[in-house]
Amino acid sequence: MNTKGKVTGIIANLVVAEVDGPVSQNEICFVTQGETRLMAEVIKITGKRAFVQVFESTRGLKTGDPVEFEGHLLEVTLGPGILSSIYDGLQNNLKTMDGVFLKRGDYTAPLDESKEWNFTPLALVGDRVKAGSWLGEVVENSLPHKIMVPFKFKGDFTIKSIVPAGAYTINNVIAVVSDGNADHEITMVQKWPVKLPVTCYRNKPRPFRIMETGVRIFDTFNPMAEGGTGFIPGPFGSGKTVLQHALAKQADADIIIMAACGERANEVVEIFVEFPELNDPRTGRKLMERTIIVCNTSNMPVAAREASVYTAMTLGEYYRAMGLKVLLLADSTSRWAQALREMSNRLEELPGADAFPMDLSAIISNFYSRAGYVELDNGNSGSVTFIGTVSPAGGNLKEPVTESTKKVARCFYALAQSRADSKRYPAVDPVDSYSKYLEYPEIQDYLNQTVEENWPLRVAESKNIILKGREAAEQINILGDDGVPVEYHDRFWKSELIDFAILQQDAFDKIDASTPIERQKYMLGLALDICRRQPQFDNYEKCAAYYKNLINVLKQLNYSEFRSEKFREYETVIAQQQAQN
Ligand code: ADP
Repeated sequence: MNTKGKVTGIIANLVVAEVDGPVSQNEICFVTQGETRLMAEVIKITGKRAFVQVFESTRGLKTGDPVEFEGHLLEVTLGPGILSSIYDGLQNNLKTMDGVFLKRGDYTAPLDESKEWNFTPLALVGDRVKAGSWLGEVVENSLPHKIMVPFKFKGDFTIKSIVPAGAYTINNVIAVVSDGNADHEITMVQKWPVKLPVTCYRNKPRPFRIMETGVRIFDTFNPMAEGGTGFIPGPFGSGKTVLQHALAKQADADIIIMAACGERANEVVEIFVEFPELNDPRTGRKLMERTIIVCNTSNMPVAAREASVYTAMTLGEYYRAMGLKVLLLADSTSRWAQALREMSNRLEELPGADAFPMDLSAIISNFYSRAGYVELDNGNSGSVTFIGTVSPAGGNLKEPVTESTKKVARCFYALAQSRADSKRYPAVDPVDSYSKYLEYPEIQDYLNQTVEENWPLRVAESKNIILKGREAAEQINILGDDGVPVEYHDRFWKSELIDFAILQQDAFDKIDASTPIERQKYMLGLALDICRRQPQFDNYEKCAAYYKNLINVLKQLNYSEFRSEKFREYETVIAQQQAQN
């Protein structure tokens, strides 16, 4: 018998219920108002009182209204048919709904229960299996979707029967397993709690290889690791969306999950419209075929907003358990933190900095730590790479969400307003941004072996050129063009050369949009080769002219097919220009 309760207090969508039995933290319940059942989650319990946050507006709810507890935590339903979906944080299928806005108390089925999938068994009768073991596979939008022993199954099991290859719906029994005492039926669907990480892997080593994105300021300058974490604070109009699209399209990932948490409604509508339009450079078809969108707008109740990032992460972990590479992009984690703040304030908890919950740091850190590269029990591997954006109010990077995120995320991609204003895209600041993965010995080994010997040293060298150029620019600004030695101009122009040839990249150019690592290696080599020379100039104007010419040709080079005839011509021009000095 599940616990029941009655509403005794209502503060916005926080409801206090007097309960008649045990309830657990984060348990799901339904508050019934007439014909409408409103989903809610327990967030605090004191004695016989449960504080539940309702995922809907509580308009018209009254004291005495009944509450029924479900006996489980907030869960997502997992099985074939998730890809291409647009869900809200409670996994309502928004595509089947009337626009973005749900009717109160309406919950939709997350998966199509009538569709038949071609199942191929991967295990045999008599095999020993446990939670996470792959029983079979269906093809979901051309990706293999493994049907696994549900993660709620504790201990070891033996397969007693498994269906032959054929078409089945998600609710058909595809295998029966026995734990020695009883038989258990397995279908293609399972449920996972969203707020607890499901640890269904053998090992979670530190990231050791990079995730190529084709974006030079990422791969060359501040590489993201497969299974790594990063964050992007960006003022409005700084190119966040273009960058996210580039990552989604180009990153070396099988599955893209986009969590749009609590942005303004029109921005979420943009995601609805823009994402399905994106083409997949890998397949030539639509990117949506291997994308899942989880979105909530800030006019949805605060609790539903909070759930969306967890739902998105859980979907990622599920696909990771199939041995796939998942890239999870969350925009923006600040709105998620604001949702936490609103709830915490309603609970009248003692506030931390800027009225965020005291444990904000721990919440953010726990969340980021769910990303990662994992070795599965069957020897395969999978990963969830997480990149969140933060939208600090007034661009203040010292506020608690940004600070807490900075402590846990290993990469930082600072989108700078000044760079966006001067149309230097992607506007990622090369000095403020960093990738801590560059310091990992395993990543250094990986780069030395897969890109080229001493690659990390070359990257450090080019960063130093940028830094020195910035210092020189400051001096020139203060003392005037004639007030500094010509070497200052030389330093400045060398950093401009790296900036234009490597850092700036036109997301809308067919060729420049994505640079394979082989080409990035070539470009950095070429740029460093130029920068290492010390041509002598009589005056700063000659210095500027020399580098401006080179920059122009290097830009053309970036727009040309790698090693094509045109490309070779530009290489020759570069060599000639250098020879003249
Ligand atoms: P945000 O999402 O931060 O508000 P957008 O991503 O929409 O900003 O970018 C604003 C504009 O900046 C784009 O419409 C585009 O014109 C320009 N832009 C941003 N990134 C690039 C890029 N890599 N290449 C070319 N143009 C860019």
